[in-house]
Amino acid sequence: AKRIIIKVGTSTLIYPNGKVNLAAIDQLAFVLTDLRNRGKEIILVSSGAVGVGMTKMNLNQRPQTIPEQQAIAAIGQGELINIYNQRFATYGQQTAQVLVTRDVIDFPESRKNVTNTLEQLLALGAIPIVNENDTVAVDELDHSTKFGDNDQLSAIVTQLVTADLLIVLSDIDGFYSDNPSTNAQAELYSLVTEINDDLMAKAGGAGSTFGTGGMHSKLQAAKRIFDANRSMVLANGKNPAIIFDILAGKEIGTFFKH
Ligand code: ADP
Repeated sequence: AKRIIIKVGTSTLIYPNGKVNLAAIDQLAFVLTDLRNRGKEIILVSSGAVGVGMTKMNLNQRPQTIPEQQAIAAIGQGELINIYNQRFATYGQQTAQVLVTRDVIDFPESRKNVTNTLEQLLALGAIPIVNENDTVAVDELDHSTKFGDNDQLSAIVTQLVTADLLIVLSDIDGFYSDNPSTNAQAELYSLVTEINDDLMAKAGGAGSTFGTGGMHSKLQAAKRIFDANRSMVLANGKNPAIIFDILAGKEIGTFFKH
């Protein structure tokens, strides 16, 4: 794989106590910079704006209303990029903040603009850090819509720049036959070749306080990936160096391939 999209969920970036997981962010910066240095083209799709904003504002509960969440996300997004920039700078890697909305699906003009920007950033050797613009659109915040977390967004970005592989890092080892937090008998699927209703029924919602997408939204993303004839790996982001192993072809997490 030459062009790779990495999506990190809030659960990878924020500890259960609400503090920022600096070790994970630092390791992510190290791993992605190393891949870039080896000639890979990398785009990071990062959640975590609301989580980081909550930490900054000393909130221990996710705000209730959408406008509150938007405000906290705006505070957190700046801080999150700050942390990323600091860590990536340590390794000499240029980053870029790219905020997008669902318009990339609905409007060809927007799609073209976003694609052009991402292509240009890759050509410059930068690592784009993509998130949804929560001020303009609330798809990510409003759980009633299907955009769900950044899982869909990462699949859309994969389509836009025709990347070879999408790696989704979560707080779980992969996709199980049932939610492992409620069913100890649940088994890990190492390979999924088709997304059907049967499989969808096995996916539950988000497990953590800070996670928002849940497994359902990850399967939706996989569906989109299949439609675009791409592949996806879902793996545990506890230790982002796992990306090295995935790219080395080791059997890790759940591999979604047609
Ligand atoms: P992230 O913030 O990384 O996107 P989420 O909390 O949104 O993570 O989604 C991962 C969670 O989905 C897991 O921790 C688990 O509790 C839950 N889950 C529900 N059903 C399943 C399943 N079938 N297999 C794996 N995890 C599942």
